[in-house]
Amino acid sequence: MPFIKVHDKEFIPYLSADEIEQQVKRVASEINRDYEGKKPLFIAILNGAFIFAADLFKHITIEAEISFIKLASYKGIKTSGHVITAIGLDADLHKREVIIIEDIVDTGKTLYHFLPQLEHQNPTSLKIASLLHKPDALQHPLKIDYLGFNIPNKFVIGYGLDYDGLGRNIKEIYQLVE
Ligand code: 5GP
Repeated sequence: MPFIKVHDKEFIPYLSADEIEQQVKRVASEINRDYEGKKPLFIAILNGAFIFAADLFKHITIEAEISFIKLASYKGIKTSGHVITAIGLDADLHKREVIIIEDIVDTGKTLYHFLPQLEHQNPTSLKIASLLHKPDALQHPLKIDYLGFNIPNKFVIGYGLDYDGLGRNIKEIYQLVE
């Protein structure tokens, strides 16, 4: 089995570039169908979603806008709650059809804590498109409206996803050998 080494860990091929492309096209066609005439605003979450967002957006054939944000997570000093702030969120979401683009939903914690901040701006609708999802890891109630792949609860890299900074430029998705 061909494997690659990134930092100190070994990874094996899991999803080929062709398989990824097929599912990205399928997700784009679902969005094109559902948002016909609606001019949605995509919000892609950096860093991990940058490749998925670019490939997905190339296959969006309806009128649409895209914006990019980074999320920073702080642990409250006095509370146990997580505070998540968005850097670069300059778009006005009021009365917009918003679609979040994520690379992967793992425990769901990030989006679960962040979505209320977007809902606060009263978008007409707020949906999630994620390339990957680990259903066995999900700890927060989240509905993923557009999904590329359900995957096992194992760490993956490639196609935008990194291991300690490396691996984002790999065309395929690789899985950690445990
Ligand atoms: P959650 O808040 O859903 O637990 O995690 C979301 C974030 O954790 C993702 O956007 C991603 O940055 C990171 N993450 C979760 N699982 C993986 C994984 O298997 N590989 C990589 N590279 N990042 C992951």
